[in-house]
Amino acid sequence: MSFIEQWLYEAVPALIGSEWRTGQQTFAVDNPATGETIARVAELGAEDTRDAVTAAYNAGVAWRATPVKQRSALLRRWFELIIEHADDLARLMTLEQGKPLAEAKGEVTYGASFIEFFAEEAKRMAGETLPSHGADKRLLVLREPVGVVAAITPWNFPLAMITRKCAPALAAGCTVVIKPAEATPLTALAAAYLALEAGLPAGTINVVTASKPADVGEVLTTDPRVRKVSFTGSTPVGKRLLAQCASTVKKTAMELGGNAPFIVFDDADVDAAVDGAIASKFRNAGQTCVCTNRFLVQDGIYDAFVSKLTERVKALKVGDGLADGSVIGPLINQAAVDKVQRHVDDAMSHGARLVCGGKPHAAGERFFTPTVLADVTTAMAVADEETFGPVAPVFRFKQDEEAIQMANDTPFGLAAYFYATDYRRIWRTMEALEYGMVGVNEGLISTELAPFGGVKESGLGREGSHHGLDEFTELKYVCVGGL
Ligand code: NAD
Repeated sequence: MSFIEQWLYEAVPALIGSEWRTGQQTFAVDNPATGETIARVAELGAEDTRDAVTAAYNAGVAWRATPVKQRSALLRRWFELIIEHADDLARLMTLEQGKPLAEAKGEVTYGASFIEFFAEEAKRMAGETLPSHGADKRLLVLREPVGVVAAITPWNFPLAMITRKCAPALAAGCTVVIKPAEATPLTALAAAYLALEAGLPAGTINVVTASKPADVGEVLTTDPRVRKVSFTGSTPVGKRLLAQCASTVKKTAMELGGNAPFIVFDDADVDAAVDGAIASKFRNAGQTCVCTNRFLVQDGIYDAFVSKLTERVKALKVGDGLADGSVIGPLINQAAVDKVQRHVDDAMSHGARLVCGGKPHAAGERFFTPTVLADVTTAMAVADEETFGPVAPVFRFKQDEEAIQMANDTPFGLAAYFYATDYRRIWRTMEALEYGMVGVNEGLISTELAPFGGVKESGLGREGSHHGLDEFTELKYVCVGGL
């Protein structure tokens, strides 16, 4: 029996240094598909968080001095253990988060890929020597780990949002305190368990679980020993944490919300655009930060796109993520279902046409029927707010400039997509979009090999690629004189 099976229906402790801490109280973790409590997790507070920071701070002294090949080998072993436990991790993720099992397996592979990548990238964390301003001086630039990192993560990708931060941090010689989302702490704890199994020293990775995050967050954003806060989550919480970090001038990375446009121009391959639309919009039941929030479709192709999209959307099988063939699982909680319904109702009350779906699904309380709305306009809430559910609102435009203006008319700037074939239009559009990431004739863009992140109120910093390692290093300039 895997260690994960033993955790289910039990009280699962959090990890501080080498101690698995139970805490005075626990909170429930529910399966969103059934409402059943699948485990209880330690309810920790400010004092426990300070202990975790102390464990990370102390472990950092030896960890940053550990030769890079050794750090790399330990990370590589962690990667291998995650892959060896892929089936168990995926099942656990589906149980606590709801996504279909095939998607959960995909997330395990994707999440592990960051550890594999940064185990290698650690070896390329080079400093530099610079031409000198004096004959008797030499100028060096050392690259050093920033120190203790707080990783605060959301529920929609319970593993990958953690490894995307922890792998580069550990590779660079930092130590981490993870605060996973209250809905999905089990995957985080399982990943940390495997990190210790892999031989990562106690204290390099700590997990503080809490159902009310404010106290934990207060410590992580104000304790002077924490040198970087790397947050993924909503824009309002990100703004609050940024403000809290100001008092001790921490480095920050903010991976925040989006309002992704998906533009389909008249010259697009409609079938390819519909494939991309399904992948981008309906993965994780529409609960991804990079998922399309607005389809902007040109007049000449509008009816064909809506009709083909609707045909595919109607065929999406809704159900428990563990059931065979389910491709749309539940939403994370009742508030998420209510928000999706509010967006649909608001659009219809302002004149949108319901093409399919539009209401909760018979599979259970937290399931929403995949929906297509046509004749959507900028007067509707879906134009401005992240829906975070399986709803595809289709706007209409005539001129290219109008689409660019609509696409950029938002405080967000995470991901954008467009489908076209004319190469001049492709270049013009790619350059005009005010976004951190652009998919051209492509609906899925995330990979550990490329820098992930947004502009405007979608955030600061990049995760993945060699840029992701830079985020966890400081430059130290050394001037050696008197030569
Ligand atoms: P959220 O902001 O509610 O919570 C994110 C995390 O912050 C959770 O762990 C939560 O417990 C914690 N948190 C909340 N208040 C806190 C406080 N005062 N102090 C410390 N921690 C606190 O977001 P969510 O609902 O979990 O996730 C959905 C949001 O995340 C969406 O807006 C989505 O777009 C965004 N997201 C962004 C990315 C990205 O890479 N840009 C990736 C995934 C999700």
